[in-house]
Amino acid sequence: MTTSQHVNLEQFIEGVIRRNPGETEFHQAVYEVAADIFDFIADKPIYHEAQILRRIAEPDRVISFRVCWEDDAGNVRVQRGYRVQNNNSIGPYKGGLRFHKSVNQSILKFLAFEQTFKNSLTGLPMGGGKGGSDFNPKGKSDHEIMRFCQSFMTELFRHVGEDTDVPAGDIGVGAREIGYMFGQYKRITNRYVGVLTGKGLEWGGSLVRKESTGYGVVYFLENMFKQDKGTIEGKVVAISGAGNVATHAAEKAIQLGAKVITLSDSTGFIHDPDGFNREKVQWVVDQKAHSRGSVADYVKVFPVASFHEGERPWGVKCDVAMPCATQNELSEDEAKILIKNGVKAIVEGANMPCSNDAIALFRDARILFGPAKAANAGGVAVSGLEMSQNSTRISLKEEELQGLLREIMENIHQNCLEFAVQADGYVDYAKGANIAGFKKVANAMLAFGIV
Ligand code: GLU
Repeated sequence: MTTSQHVNLEQFIEGVIRRNPGETEFHQAVYEVAADIFDFIADKPIYHEAQILRRIAEPDRVISFRVCWEDDAGNVRVQRGYRVQNNNSIGPYKGGLRFHKSVNQSILKFLAFEQTFKNSLTGLPMGGGKGGSDFNPKGKSDHEIMRFCQSFMTELFRHVGEDTDVPAGDIGVGAREIGYMFGQYKRITNRYVGVLTGKGLEWGGSLVRKESTGYGVVYFLENMFKQDKGTIEGKVVAISGAGNVATHAAEKAIQLGAKVITLSDSTGFIHDPDGFNREKVQWVVDQKAHSRGSVADYVKVFPVASFHEGERPWGVKCDVAMPCATQNELSEDEAKILIKNGVKAIVEGANMPCSNDAIALFRDARILFGPAKAANAGGVAVSGLEMSQNSTRISLKEEELQGLLREIMENIHQNCLEFAVQADGYVDYAKGANIAGFKKVANAMLAFGIV
């Protein structure tokens, strides 16, 4: 055994920090996983000897490129584009593209690392990747979005492919952007293949893909409650975000009998004490997706509600908190408030929305905690089904896909359980998800030898 095989958790993390200076989100994501994996592999030297975790925490490659485009006023604009191909041990790299002004290498490395575990948990053959750009879509015209997407794909096309790397949407990237990018890919390569998922239904997309992340989050919560002999029915739910994940999670939670009382965007949150219904959620969808306005206007249409400028919803008393906006949107202090207010479950719709300190508090307080890599895996799972449909050129029916999504979420819950049950009976889903996600990738890597 060499010295490197003797590293403990602290030394491992020190190494990650040293090798990836300033990449705080990446450090955070690796730390959250590493603590559980070190426990798991303590009596399994084969994983230590093969340096498996060290290798998963070193992306296969990080591609970064310049993206030039012209705005409507004729100015030349320069953005940075990325694709982080983290690990392809169990299938082609797979994961979304994020267009947001905050995007940098650290954020995409954390997302690609998380995606590797998430995709493994789905049970489908997909590796982990993520990409995007610091391009800010806010306030951009449709033509500007199109020109940016075309320029972005003009470089990205050489790095992706249906059996190599299959990007999809994420924050700032929906069906419109996927359309522009797919159009450009097809134009450059003259190939009509499933190189992207989240496509429109008329051109290779899958039914249920749009709803899948949000619905999946609620199915995971349903399974957590069932395991705990509880139910989602009648629960008061606080949701953050107003995008695809948040609004579909709200819709499904309402359908299953919960009362959803908050939604939010970057301007603040709406508190509707009567609870949202389908019509109210639809208002939010139209306001965000179609008018691209702020949720603040909600109170003009539904005066029973209040708008809280610049605030997040975690101070509102609720049974379930569902952070569905972005990373690090639920802090340690907010976790304390939620716990004080009697929260029963937290389920992550966004990627890494809770800080590690917040998660530690939930775990210590024995509160049900559904980690993103398990709870929000429904989206990428249906992306996986979109890939199969594209390969076979056969489209599945809506009922089949809805059934498969439910089944996959149930299986993910079950896979987590295998490693999650603690001595006192508490089900530590974060730990279960980390270990179950790791094991499959790790065993594949062992089979491949030292590469
Ligand atoms: N961006 C989504 C996620 O975080 C979906 C990725 C995909 O469908 O490839 O899982």
